[in-house]
Amino acid sequence: MTVTDTTPHVGENLFPTGQLFIAGHWRAASGGGLMAVEAPATGERLTDVARATTADVDAAVAAARTAFDSGVWSGLPGRERARILLEVARLIRERSEQLGQIESQDAGKPIGMATNVDVNGAIGAFEYYGMLAQQIDGSVRETPGNVHAYVQREPLGVVAAITPFNFPLILSTSKIAPALAAGNSVVLKPADDTPLSSLMLAEILQEAGIPDGVFNVITGVGSELGDRLVGHPEVDKVAFTGSTEVGAHVAGHAGKNLRPVVSELGGNSANILFADADLDRAINTAIEAFVFNAGQFCMAGSRLYVERPVYERVLEQLPQAVANIPWGDITRPESVFGPLISRKQFDRVARLVSETVAAGARVIVGGNPDPDRPGYFYPATVLADVREDHPAVAREVFGPVLTVQPFDTEEEVIEAANGTAYGLAGGVQTGNTAKGHRVSSRLKAGIVWINGWGLMDPAVPFGGVKASGWGRENGPEGLNEYLQTKSIVLNLEG
Ligand code: NAD
Repeated sequence: MTVTDTTPHVGENLFPTGQLFIAGHWRAASGGGLMAVEAPATGERLTDVARATTADVDAAVAAARTAFDSGVWSGLPGRERARILLEVARLIRERSEQLGQIESQDAGKPIGMATNVDVNGAIGAFEYYGMLAQQIDGSVRETPGNVHAYVQREPLGVVAAITPFNFPLILSTSKIAPALAAGNSVVLKPADDTPLSSLMLAEILQEAGIPDGVFNVITGVGSELGDRLVGHPEVDKVAFTGSTEVGAHVAGHAGKNLRPVVSELGGNSANILFADADLDRAINTAIEAFVFNAGQFCMAGSRLYVERPVYERVLEQLPQAVANIPWGDITRPESVFGPLISRKQFDRVARLVSETVAAGARVIVGGNPDPDRPGYFYPATVLADVREDHPAVAREVFGPVLTVQPFDTEEEVIEAANGTAYGLAGGVQTGNTAKGHRVSSRLKAGIVWINGWGLMDPAVPFGGVKASGWGRENGPEGLNEYLQTKSIVLNLEG
């Protein structure tokens, strides 16, 4: 490894900044470009990362292709790949404090959440897929005639992974771990705003024994690099998480090359609160569902539907319950959420709220960010008297904003919940298990929580329907995204 770090950076020499990780080496972007990484909690520069060019994309894909074709990783027995992936998990655990600090500062997450959710999620992904790497097996098929037909599962080749800003570690490891478990090579392009934990991951993967070229990281501007990466003839699969808008572009571009895409896209999920629910618990759940990660959560429960008999009570209780949430200071472990990621995201959230209020919505709590506070802090905001066509109801807000509407019948609320282009998640809060099951099964969403919100696990698949994406991450389903099936028919005649 060549290290030529001269830039001051966050994280005290944990990885070389201003450089890309290609073919097992750290190197500057061709042309030497850099871009600043900002701390959302202060608006100040944290460090610089390399601003890759399309020449760097080509170099990273070539390195991944060479490594794949050499069999240095793809040809290892699953058990050997498993040993190394489990070592990655161990090293992440060993460095969870530093990694948590980086994720906290880079993405503006409270330190407790960055460590307990994000870093633990990354450990979980490598442990889970480390175990599954040993269990990739085929089958024998019954056929007429004197033949032996068997089916084996093989890696695809080079995977291009593109991730969004909101869960940099979790959403990169939910791609890298299964892709590597299956034997593929990977080129990771992290979000423009939150690239730092990917660079530290590169160090960790190399130390764990992932061979050179099998894992590569290129930082830079997605709109400058995306088409080259997604459309590269040596890329065999694209794993994309991000907005529906960019996801549609990525799918179209990959489609021209007939390359498959697994895509996890936007959401605007409905949380249905029935009058028979344990109200205090359901209100806390509704709050967690919209403030988690400052609402920058693709599965945020941003639309709350409350059965009419308890609607007014819920509106009365929400302001105090919201006021009790510790938030803002990301260095305090008990903080529940921090700032939005950027000025752009802050302005977008503020605009959606003010447009919705102008259209007739009533502010129950929040909606009043402190103009003198540095960083991009937006308070938890609840809006009532909304209609389905109001901007904060109809669109993905991606901020700590909840809209609340009453409903009278199951039919009506199911229709409202499904009345969106998205289909990522849903929630049903009820004391009646049969009702919870009945309503959940009719929600058009990839995951539904009954009496809760947001529980994720590497073993539990997630993904969307409709405009929320194709395919699944996590679980054996997530591994299958990175495998292909080959049938071999052996003629036993003569
Ligand atoms: P984004 O779509 O702006 O960017 C996502 C990634 O795409 C970034 O790495 C970006 O650099 C890259 N990109 C930009 N232009 C590109 C192009 N032309 N070709 C290829 N890549 C390109 O999303 P964001 O703002 O970072 O993240 C927020 C969005 O992500 C929200 O809509 C959210 O719902 C969604 N999201 C979905 C999930 C899920 O699992 N379904 C999870 C997290 C976030």
